[in-house]
Amino acid sequence: MADDELERFEAVMGALSKSLSGEGERDDGLIGARCPKCEGSSFVRVSELYEDAARRLDEQADAQDIVREGGRTDRQVVARLGPPQRRSALRTVIAVALPLSVVAFYVYRRFEGTIGQAAIVATLIVTLIVFLTTVRRLSDEYYARRDEWRRLFMCRRCGQLVRS
Ligand SMILES: [Zn+2]
Repeated sequence: MADDELERFEAVMGALSKSLSGEGERDDGLIGARCPKCEGSSFVRVSELYEDAARRLDEQADAQDIVREGGRTDRQVVARLGPPQRRSALRTVIAVALPLSVVAFYVYRRFEGTIGQAAIVATLIVTLIVFLTTVRRLSDEYYARRDEWRRLFMCRRCGQLVRS
């Protein structure tokens, strides 16, 4: 009886130290989770999946259409599951600055003097404000999307994406 309890105790301690030292399913990241689609319990981190696929594509491009984990090919993984990209503020700034410049130029030609100069200064200020707020907004969005991407896992069996 006492020996049984000792064995059980050791088994528990062993399991505990194993999980503490990070062996076993450490890389799984979604311990105990189930795939909502196929009930599978093995997941791979999408960021690691992407890096592996991108490296393989670099090394052997002819293997890009081999179906791998989750029923996806390296080409699909690289095309669809890559990290989010930073977006440029340039398009928004141009969309604002261009019509404003046309108006300012018209006012400058029409009225000249102080009013014309004020129109140009106002255009510069508005453009600067739009530039700064757009850069800030795009930066916040970028980090939010990157965090989402880093918390994304894929079911190894069916390819379903799961957020941790
Ligand atoms: Zn699944």
